[in-house]
Amino acid sequence: MNGIKHLTTDLLEIGLIRRLVRLPFFQFLFVVPSLLIFIIAALSIFFGVRHAGSNFGMVFTWVVWWGMLVSFFVVLGRGWCVMCPFGALGEWVQRLSLWWKRKWGLGLNLKYPRRLKNMWFALVFFIVFIFMDNGYGISNSPPLTAGLIVVLVLGAIWVGLLFERRTFCLYHCPLTLFIGISSMFAPFEIRRKDAAVCRKCESKACFSGSERTYGCPMFEYQGRGMDKNNDCILCTECIKSCPHSNIGMRLRLWGHDLWARREGRLDESIGAVVIAALVTTVSLFLVMFLPPLKSLMDKILPAGAPPNDWPRVVSISLLYLGGVAASLLLMYGFSYLSKLFSGVKDVTAKSLFIHFGYAAVPLGIMKFLSDITDHVLRTWGAVFGVINALLQDFPLNRVMTEEITVKQVLSAGQTYLLQTVMIAIGFSFSLYVAYKLAERKFSDRDVAFRTFLPIGAFLFILTMAALWALSAAL
Ligand code: SF4
Ligand code: SF4
Ligand code: SF4
Repeated sequence: MNGIKHLTTDLLEIGLIRRLVRLPFFQFLFVVPSLLIFIIAALSIFFGVRHAGSNFGMVFTWVVWWGMLVSFFVVLGRGWCVMCPFGALGEWVQRLSLWWKRKWGLGLNLKYPRRLKNMWFALVFFIVFIFMDNGYGISNSPPLTAGLIVVLVLGAIWVGLLFERRTFCLYHCPLTLFIGISSMFAPFEIRRKDAAVCRKCESKACFSGSERTYGCPMFEYQGRGMDKNNDCILCTECIKSCPHSNIGMRLRLWGHDLWARREGRLDESIGAVVIAALVTTVSLFLVMFLPPLKSLMDKILPAGAPPNDWPRVVSISLLYLGGVAASLLLMYGFSYLSKLFSGVKDVTAKSLFIHFGYAAVPLGIMKFLSDITDHVLRTWGAVFGVINALLQDFPLNRVMTEEITVKQVLSAGQTYLLQTVMIAIGFSFSLYVAYKLAERKFSDRDVAFRTFLPIGAFLFILTMAALWALSAAL
């Protein structure tokens, strides 16, 4: 059904990689440099110059970190999580250990309520996170970015002290939905090798841990056969724990999890459509409707000082809600059409929505990447400027340098062309995933093709919205 899946054999057969990932402090090696940079960035955000374009922490966070986080989706999945200081801080306090195994720590290790084990909170947190930029300009505001850092650090430590393992990373981090669903696209996986070995295994150490190692911090059980990357933070703890060396690392086809995972889930499917909607339909709504809606709100609501300019904030909130709701309704409508086109009686529009929602992921990722590419091409010069400014008053970054000049790498037209190509790649990949999903659902190729058509039309509409928003912003 899935054709060629793996592009390489087990990368752990390469001695250097095997020795590296089996180091007890493998993850610590990645967290330490990122924690040091994070501390310097946080100091300059808290105490440095208020001008975002001259502040090392601001430029580093919203250009380097955000660009790196999204770029990882097309290479390593949750690559950022393996070096993320927030998750690590929560874990260190919980375990009272940096990497070595301790029998007890500070955490109460309470079980997280079963009915909250889903992505709904994470979905709301992610929408709010993205909204904070359009609505409140968080990427231009050191105080708001500082607030976000405090919330993340305290949230990771607080939840780590209360609940088992990385409950914060699974359900509360505002990025976990985005990172988790997008990592299904990555051409990299850590998976068990031989199911028969797992069936005979008594220790289940990949999940429970051993004398020397912790069990999977994200509650993944390799013995069951992981079918998607969503919750794998690449910590390699399971590789170190498995007494039978039955876990491997492989490169595989891009997007494989999107069509080959087990049953779909409503929260994930809605999450996938929302990720794409935020950078397609919502972007278009903002470009088209913000000026007239704001004029209307100016007549109804009292004006406030930015960022609390209520007519603007309320207008953007309404457009966010409208764009997300319109995309979900469209997806449901096209799922219904898909049901009609299939001619199959016992299939429901809801089940097709859940099944096909994942197809929006490549388009969403490529649109996010195209937005970041535009941002980075316009602001990359600032990275060198703010490093220079930081060095003049290390580490507080209080010296305001002369206006940092940013050299435009590509012209506006060339950037637009590059972004269009990236969106076209995302659209093509989304179509491919939708077709693979249709083939998986229906063995009859005619039925599969007919079912695929309305979903392809939905993806086309989102793509047109993305391109329209892009050209309108030129
Ligand atoms: S889920 Fe969030 S807090 Fe946890 S490691 Fe990833 S980015 Fe960091
Ligand atoms: S510890 Fe290894 S062999 Fe045992 S269930 Fe986990 S992956 Fe399979
Ligand atoms: S599956 Fe393995 S590598 Fe992934 S989070 Fe769990 S222990 Fe870490």
